[in-house]
Amino acid sequence: MSRAEKLTDQILERIKGKDVKVKREDILRRMKLLIEEFKVPESEAVRTIMNYLVREYGIPREELFDRDSPLVKIADISKVNQWVSLRAKVVQLWDSNSPNVSQVGLIGDETGIVKFVVWAKASQPEVEEGKSYIFRNVVTDSFQGRMQINVTRTSRIEEIDEDIQLPPREIEVVGSMVAIQQNSGLVKRCNECGRVLNKGVCHQHGKVEGYDDLRIKAVIDDGENVYEIILNEENIKELTGIGLDEALKIAHETLDRNAVLAELKNMLLGRYFRVKGLRGGRYLLVKEISVHKPKADDFNEILEALA
Ligand SMILES: [Zn+2]
Repeated sequence: MSRAEKLTDQILERIKGKDVKVKREDILRRMKLLIEEFKVPESEAVRTIMNYLVREYGIPREELFDRDSPLVKIADISKVNQWVSLRAKVVQLWDSNSPNVSQVGLIGDETGIVKFVVWAKASQPEVEEGKSYIFRNVVTDSFQGRMQINVTRTSRIEEIDEDIQLPPREIEVVGSMVAIQQNSGLVKRCNECGRVLNKGVCHQHGKVEGYDDLRIKAVIDDGENVYEIILNEENIKELTGIGLDEALKIAHETLDRNAVLAELKNMLLGRYFRVKGLRGGRYLLVKEISVHKPKADDFNEILEALA
């Protein structure tokens, strides 16, 4: 079935059972003209034709236009056989081993991630990983005890120009600390808002005295991605034995607050860490960090890779 035929049938589906005699050929001819000849986007073509039906056949607007299933969040999906619409991003696609399935994978919004299946006979345009869409009129289902979304013939998938955020996910990264940013080490924070001062000045509150704190903004590279992490005093003391008191002592003895940063860089840069945290984009909110000691196996792997 061509796209024009499929879209035509979707429109006819909306007026099924109504007492209107609309000729399929009439709609199909217009649809072909719009999407094949004039290359009008599909959603635009559908809207144009529905407007035509309202004018020409006197079908009430609501009947044609407001029949989309309600937009819901993924976290709210809990029952099977519900017709819903979702704004979601394609998180991952995997190979289907069934000829009845055209695409299968995961989609997500800010509230959760769910499996989705596009049936081959739904003849939908293919979606791409990392892109966001509105999935209109999809139906909820359950497979092996887990909720999933089925995309059927009556569904409509529209790409949207918006990057839908996914819920934070806890991940574990093992990588080396490749950089420590300049405004790390012994810092002063604003007494009012806690922001790190820049040369004694708070972005919000101007010149303030501030109080001492220890923090590190660092970059961890696991060989595939880089993650920016922020370590607090507790994390730093655990990793290096240098807490706020020790840092102040170093600054006092060397008469140089920057000596603390130099010392921390010396102890941390280039070493391997295991970091557990919540991922939001490229940032990792650290929950746990520890020094990673490579096992003998890792060395063997490295030696093999070098051989
Ligand atoms: Zn402030």
